[in-house]
Amino acid sequence: MDVVRSTGRLTTALDAVLSVVLASPCAACSEVLDHPTQGPVCARCWRSILPLTPPLCERCGDPLPTWRSISVPLAVCPRCRRTRRLIDRARAIGAHDGALRAIVHALKYEGRRSLARTLGALMRQRGAEILVGVACAVPVPLHPSRRRERGFNQAADLARHVGVPVVSALARVRATATQTGLPAAQRHRNVRDAFALTRAGRALAGQSVVLIDDVSTTGATLEACARALKGGGVTEVRALTAARVVGR
Ligand SMILES: [Zn+2]
Ligand SMILES: [Zn+2]
Repeated sequence: MDVVRSTGRLTTALDAVLSVVLASPCAACSEVLDHPTQGPVCARCWRSILPLTPPLCERCGDPLPTWRSISVPLAVCPRCRRTRRLIDRARAIGAHDGALRAIVHALKYEGRRSLARTLGALMRQRGAEILVGVACAVPVPLHPSRRRERGFNQAADLARHVGVPVVSALARVRATATQTGLPAAQRHRNVRDAFALTRAGRALAGQSVVLIDDVSTTGATLEACARALKGGGVTEVRALTAARVVGR
């Protein structure tokens, strides 16, 4: 008890010293961190990440106009009614905006890997309903050359914190041009057939799995992953991402 209390006091004192000496900025809002020992993002930024406002589309997780959930028992957005997707259900912590967008960027491009723990915990919490009954989490892989360049795969880092076993079921067999700035149709063409099952992936036939990635933009990458998994006999493929671009 005393140990805990004195450790707490020590951390507070350390925070006070570090915040003055280092003046480390929050990785999301750039304000000086009051508690640098608690990670590179301030509490205000974490608190500002709101969940997507329900009702949500049962399948893709996009917010729906309120009236739809009253009139339709299984609420599905117009796009999901038009096209049957291979991803059965998708959820995210929130919209790819504000602090969440900045935090994902810091994780991915500034190598702030410690952020994956809190992001992963938020994914676990806000994606709880789609984690029920899945056999494992499958991180969206990077091509080996991109993986080498970055030094880590942010999706694999996130997957470790969502609370289900992680299986590296997929390999990126084709290096693809960056998706940034491409329109949806081109994104789908760009990543089609970019993924193949690994040996571990071939053992997942008949199971339900959840794909993990940092951002879902048009869903093209997740769809391409789902195609490979379902081609190998996986029954159900769900997706859980840190952020989701809403209203494409
Ligand atoms: Zn901040
Ligand atoms: Zn939908």
